[in-house]
Amino acid sequence: MDASPLDGFHEECGVFGVFGHTDSGALTALGLHALQHRGQEACGIVSFDGTEFFSHRALGLVDAAFGAADVIGGLKGHAAIGHNRYATTGETLVRNIQPLYADLSFGGFALAHNGNLTNAHTIRQALVRQGSLFQSTTDTEIILHLMAVSTRNDVIGRLVEAIGQIEGAYSLVALWGDRLVGLRDPHGIRPLVLGRLGESYILASETCALDIIGATFVRDIGPGEMVVIDRKGIQSSFPFAYKGAESRFCVFEYVYFARPDSFMEGRSVYGMRRRIGAELAREAPVEADYVVAVPDSGVPSAIGYAEESGIPFELGIIRNHYIGRTFIEPTNQIRNLGVKLKHNANRAFIEGKRIVLIDDSIVRGTTSKKIVEMVRAAGAAQVHMRISSPPTAHSCFYGIDTPSTSDLLAHKMDVEAIRTFIGADSLSYISIDGLYRALQDTGRDSGGPRFCDACFTGDYPVPLTDHANNCAGAKVTDLRERAGT
Ligand code: AMP
Repeated sequence: MDASPLDGFHEECGVFGVFGHTDSGALTALGLHALQHRGQEACGIVSFDGTEFFSHRALGLVDAAFGAADVIGGLKGHAAIGHNRYATTGETLVRNIQPLYADLSFGGFALAHNGNLTNAHTIRQALVRQGSLFQSTTDTEIILHLMAVSTRNDVIGRLVEAIGQIEGAYSLVALWGDRLVGLRDPHGIRPLVLGRLGESYILASETCALDIIGATFVRDIGPGEMVVIDRKGIQSSFPFAYKGAESRFCVFEYVYFARPDSFMEGRSVYGMRRRIGAELAREAPVEADYVVAVPDSGVPSAIGYAEESGIPFELGIIRNHYIGRTFIEPTNQIRNLGVKLKHNANRAFIEGKRIVLIDDSIVRGTTSKKIVEMVRAAGAAQVHMRISSPPTAHSCFYGIDTPSTSDLLAHKMDVEAIRTFIGADSLSYISIDGLYRALQDTGRDSGGPRFCDACFTGDYPVPLTDHANNCAGAKVTDLRERAGT
């Protein structure tokens, strides 16, 4: 099923940047629109015209925030960066909306971040003791403070020094003077791609954001790579790649987060999801009349499962795309109601039939339980649940908003207990080796490239410093800021 503000679990963030185009503000708004699935809570754009910075940031969706001609018209200049946010750290405060902007000793600096830092609060405490005054509760702000106190006298030097101190997952875009910068953490946990639109350069979280503006894909920014784009062109370096760091791209991007029409690391996300579905059919076959996806995110794997098993795929669940986020509070009771508002069983195809239901993951189990109930209520003879990822048993600290480990169903229960909980006739997850085989034809421990698969294995590639230090960070609730945009 796709993320909804009603579900309580949400995507990370999306970032976008453009250099060398007179419509940089409008292009960035379009790019953010294509990346809307990565964050729906707030969005912002900062542009630069060679002399001045212009900024617009708002709670809510991109079309509402940037739909008005005067807003786009006000974002002047040939360079811009933008950000879609779903809060993975910090709260829903207007001052947490990115891009963040600071007047540093060398001038204005704007920054947008996708990911989550795992030592941000530890660093923040040290900075606050030295006198730093933080304006937001987001982890990203520490980068600005580290740059502000750096003794290096060049901006790139300050940025590299700051980045050298942070740990975690980060794909960043930054704008200052007449330069656009893009960089990824040494493990490349979160995505970032480079594109071209005529003479202009584009940076984006996903290739679907290049497609929307007619830009061509050039390449992925590599793990630990920094690109600096200015009027002379693009320069690449690897100042953050430390010895022993291996690429650990987030496997959950393939399973759930990324848009299926995007390409990541040269792989089609849609194609990978189909392969995962086919592998799931091989690992966990079942006799049934129809394969039914929990829409939309379960659809590509369900198509793969159907093709491999020979069981016909049917639209047995119809999703209402017009369900808004506005008026329903995410209490448990309403969350349950939300699932019913969003999906309806297609009784004509379900009544009396044995159904294989495919979804990408079970987190708290709320969705699966409701969907199984709904399909039974529509008259299914049997309901077999198949999940196109291994059990989600560990919390993510790298930018995916998951509940704490103790709230994850797979942390508390084994597969049989989960089956009973969701009320299915059978339940199977793809194995971790099966997932790797689907993605790269070899098992997890075969010596091939690894992903970050910590949510399934508990194997965290970057130290969880804040967690180990029991360092939770600032908590500020400002109702006026929550209410006003
Ligand atoms: P739950 O109802 O708590 O078991 O959540 C599982 C549902 O949420 C699945 O249908 C997934 O498609 C979706 N989902 C899983 N992980 C996330 C996430 N991090 N953000 C948004 N939705 C998610």
